[in-house]
Amino acid sequence: MTSRAYILHNSSMACNKQIIIIGAGAGGMMAAGRAAELGTRVLLLEKMDRPGKKVLITGNGRCNFTNTKDKDDFMAQFGASGRFLLPSFNRFFSGELLEFFARYGMTFKTKASGKIYPASGSSHDVVRALELYLARGGVEVRPNTNVMGLIVDRGKVCGVRTSEGDLPSTTVIVATGGASHPQTGSTGDGFRIAAATGHSIANLRPGLVPLVVKDPGKYKKLEGAGLRGVRVTAFSCHSNEIDTALTPQANVGRGLASKIPVAPVIESRVGDAVVTHFGLSGPAILEASIDIVKALENGPVSVSIDLTPNITIDELMSRLEEARAKYCSSNYLDILKGVLPQALIKSLSAMTDVTHHMVNNGVVSPESELFLQSVKSLRFDIERPYSMETAVVTGGGVSLDEIDPETMASKIITGLYFCGEVMDLDAGTGGYNLQAAFSTGFMAGESAAAAI
Ligand SMILES: Cc1cc2nc3c(=O)[nH]c(=O)nc-3n(C[C@H](O)[C@H](O)[C@H](O)COP(=O)(O)OP(=O)(O)OC[C@H]3O[C@@H](n4cnc5c(N)ncnc54)[C@H](O)[C@@H]3O)c2cc1C
Repeated sequence: MTSRAYILHNSSMACNKQIIIIGAGAGGMMAAGRAAELGTRVLLLEKMDRPGKKVLITGNGRCNFTNTKDKDDFMAQFGASGRFLLPSFNRFFSGELLEFFARYGMTFKTKASGKIYPASGSSHDVVRALELYLARGGVEVRPNTNVMGLIVDRGKVCGVRTSEGDLPSTTVIVATGGASHPQTGSTGDGFRIAAATGHSIANLRPGLVPLVVKDPGKYKKLEGAGLRGVRVTAFSCHSNEIDTALTPQANVGRGLASKIPVAPVIESRVGDAVVTHFGLSGPAILEASIDIVKALENGPVSVSIDLTPNITIDELMSRLEEARAKYCSSNYLDILKGVLPQALIKSLSAMTDVTHHMVNNGVVSPESELFLQSVKSLRFDIERPYSMETAVVTGGGVSLDEIDPETMASKIITGLYFCGEVMDLDAGTGGYNLQAAFSTGFMAGESAAAAI
């Protein structure tokens, strides 16, 4: 990342006792409310015309803002970086967040999966509660104000440079979010602002994103096929090198049970997927994409999809034998009846270029074996993530090594704090990302108030 002209020095600028927070998203609003609650004057700058635009689109407008999981499970969702969140979670976790929203009149509902939403099913309730928090604390919210850089003097923050002019402050919190869904205002500015002040930015990459595959035309016949309850396994090798014997029988990977995948397996999970005109999408693919996109930085990645995770290839073969004995000549539709949707069997046989007849003159055709192998391991070579714009989260960000997890303070610039997705933290779906933004926002607001 280039540091552009964002590093600004101005030793003559007067600093006054006001915290400036850049970005009125989940983390920034929580940080602003908390700092104001502690008696500090707070100015919250937002480049869009109103706060919380991204929060409004979360969970398809329903906002899955946290989860019933415990702290260990939460941290596991963030992979190796998860431990960084422990001090923030110890200070302000899901219980405190629920109490907070209850204080502002919001009721919630919990899904069987543990995901928690506003009872109304509307993300507007979450933003409304946060805006009330800001109003009660007397936070000055300034929309349509784009922050372009920090004003730094001898290693200390001294203010911010905005589209409306320079504003002095010795205490600034960067809460600018990631770079996905830029129409919400999260356009990656925080990465450039932090880099310009000497912070390292860990590789930025889209997460929770569809995957573009090599040679998508090969899968044309499967386009639109919904693959339900399939096992998606990602391997760090080309698809023709996949050893299916290594396909795990249990879910392994980030946030999945406690099992660590053994190379070349990157992760494996059962869920739903869909074949699209460019490659793969669907919940299991989006979840797996976080670690797949990261692994693509180091070499080839392929995905193997087992369409019948509960039936082994041997069992499929014996079904074939049974059908042969019973009908003398059989076809896929009979053998896989009740195992896979008929439309999917037809598309798959068309894709693998075999006729419906698996047994001719009492002999199992080689094409039939090929067909059954593709039922057990439908393979794709992954080309790249679809796009940052369509991703749900941004992987990478301001290096956690340069932020104190006990305060969210920069270890490089005095008076500078970070919270939320601008940091090198990302998790799968489940309310983990918003809880992390709220927890780190609360911590940053509190520490900044204490510092000023
Ligand atoms: C479609 C979608 C659905 C999602 N669903 C969920 C979900 O259900 N549950 C969940 O936990 N997570 C979900 N997420 C992720 C979650 O929204 C983010 O992780 C979270 O909002 C991050 O909070 P934040 O405060 O760090 O950043 P944001 O909420 O993105 O806020 C950053 C704010 O900073 C402002 N800003 C940026 N640059 C500047 C600048 N230069 N000057 C002034 N202001 C600036 C932006 O306009 C924005 O308002 C979803 C994300 C997307 C895209």
